[in-house]
Amino acid sequence: MDKNDYDVVIIGGGPAGLTAGIYAKRAGLSALLIEKHTPGGQIMITDWIENYPGFPEGLAGYDLTMKMEQQAKNFGLEIIQGDVKSLETDSKIKKINLSDKSVNSKTVIIASGCSPKKLGIPGENTLYGKGVSTCATCDAMFFRNKDVIAIGGGDTAVQETLFLTKFARKVYLVHRRDKLRATKILQDRILSNEKVEMVWDSTATEILGSKSVEAVSVKNVKTGEIKKIEAEGCFIWVGTLPNTEFLNAQIKVDESGFIITNNRMETSAKGIFAAGDVRNTPLRQVSTAVGDAAIAAFCADQYIEGLS
Ligand code: NAP
Repeated sequence: MDKNDYDVVIIGGGPAGLTAGIYAKRAGLSALLIEKHTPGGQIMITDWIENYPGFPEGLAGYDLTMKMEQQAKNFGLEIIQGDVKSLETDSKIKKINLSDKSVNSKTVIIASGCSPKKLGIPGENTLYGKGVSTCATCDAMFFRNKDVIAIGGGDTAVQETLFLTKFARKVYLVHRRDKLRATKILQDRILSNEKVEMVWDSTATEILGSKSVEAVSVKNVKTGEIKKIEAEGCFIWVGTLPNTEFLNAQIKVDESGFIITNNRMETSAKGIFAAGDVRNTPLRQVSTAVGDAAIAAFCADQYIEGLS
């Protein structure tokens, strides 16, 4: 076996990828995890996680990542930084092409996660990093005692807005409907937070500012009224898109680009598995990602045993 040949190559180092690594190594497989940036994925920018069992007081996303990474390394998982450009899935041995080299593997577990979706409105790109952000953990401290706007109504928008309130003077939460999508416990917290003003039935139409964010134009979708809300920050949390740029057409995805699997985490290409947020799944949590990944690694092991 060449040093570039593995039983399993895992793409992505979030909770799903690290868990797949733990299970693969414990099954005695040679395994390589390829991460584009640093391990952790979206939980690295999650301030506090309180629904992952085993941590009754909750813990920081960063701390959970460090623990998972250490656990995977303790079992001998090889982790490299790399940008996967394409996959060749036709033959028994799969080829994973990175920007600077290729590796071969009998199986691949895709755990590449998601990235924040954009709104596609004027000012969003030009003012990114100049008041526009998708990461409260990274940027909230720049808005101490300032007014900010957050956009979205899901778990991410509500949880991150709650974090913003620790710094900001006031947060306007702009949501396109009159009911939040976020889980009930988060809804209760945000609706009773005195620093938050809900802007219901509204969408942002433009982010305004010359050198940095000065205001956001917001349209009421019921009345058509447009108003300008002055703020120095604009946080956008309107959902996520799967990180699947490297996929070939052989791997079936749903209408939003999420990878379709069966309950063994098998994709439409033999020997290729998917786990976590990148998968077509009704719930995206750390707990569901690690469950997917355990199944994917277990089934990858069974698949390898069946190869001859
Ligand atoms: P999400 O659940 O898809 O919510 C996206 C929100 O943005 C929705 O409220 C949606 O409005 C709104 N939206 C979408 N497109 C929009 C647009 N063009 N203009 C204005 N608003 C728009 O995404 P998410 O909150 O990022 O969560 C992603 C997944 O991670 C979910 O499964 C979530 O449960 C999970 N997650 C869980 C936690 C936790 O457990 N604490 C924390 C973070 C994320 P509508 O409601 O009208 O569709």
